[in-house]
Amino acid sequence: MIDSHAHLDSERYAEDRLAMLQRARAAGVHTVLSIGIGDGPDTMHRAADLADEYAGSADVPKIYASAGIHPHEAKLATHQALAQLESLTQRKSVIAVGEIGLDYFYDNSPRDEQKLAFRQQMEIAAAAGLPIIIHCRPSAGSTNAWDDTLEMLGQEWRPTGLRGILHCFTGTAEHARRAIGLGFLLGFTGNVTFPKSQELREVAAALPADSFLIETDAPFLAPVPNRGKRNEPAWVAAVAVLTSISGDSSSRRKSALASIRRARSSICETTSSRRCASSAWAATSIPRPISSRAYASATSIFVIASRTP
Ligand SMILES: [Zn+2]
Ligand SMILES: [Zn+2]
Repeated sequence: MIDSHAHLDSERYAEDRLAMLQRARAAGVHTVLSIGIGDGPDTMHRAADLADEYAGSADVPKIYASAGIHPHEAKLATHQALAQLESLTQRKSVIAVGEIGLDYFYDNSPRDEQKLAFRQQMEIAAAAGLPIIIHCRPSAGSTNAWDDTLEMLGQEWRPTGLRGILHCFTGTAEHARRAIGLGFLLGFTGNVTFPKSQELREVAAALPADSFLIETDAPFLAPVPNRGKRNEPAWVAAVAVLTSISGDSSSRRKSALASIRRARSSICETTSSRRCASSAWAATSIPRPISSRAYASATSIFVIASRTP
């Protein structure tokens, strides 16, 4: 499996980063994309540093990195910070620019500054020939940031012919359709396992199997049954299992259930969660069948790792 989005440089792994990476490898995660937003533009390089540090270690996943200025820190996207990003795109381990985009939920930076930083970073990514990873969160009860993001991507990214990921996708089926039309993949994270996410699961259910990725967004958004805890890439399987059941053929269903059992035992090995001890967990945490070939595709596609469009 691939964890297509994790913040491996987080301070929250300071005490046990190597062990955390070893648990991921042992759980079947062979590759992780480490998101390079740091604590702000000054530390965007940390994800790439980690990729270099662990290159060649056999018992941890292969680590790729991104670099970018998160919309929260758009107001810090100075000329110097953008130049720093430009030089990071030349590093061998850096395969994408991100996460970049718009966050109207927190509005930590003014919206016009968010749009400017988003636009400037799209230009840097295009010049480097790299895909982009989008962070998008609308105001509560609104789809405003999705609407603006997709409009900007249509106008400013589509002409490059390059692709990207909408990470932690929470938009509507219509947003998903537009994003796929723009050549984007949708990243699903632990929130797809939350009981209230039925609408999102239905959006995922209707997607073509080769149009999405699984991710943890670790250390955030831990999936059920570890919701609320520090997340880690070893738990990406809990996102995968939600995409693995097909209701349309008994053999697929059988193999999906086998992969759920495998995923479940690997999650249980990496956690002391009491709920894991309960054999009811696999059944209760999968509220609805999603798509058929999704598990296979989620474990094999890493389109974004390519420097070519
Ligand atoms: Zn994000
Ligand atoms: Zn993230």
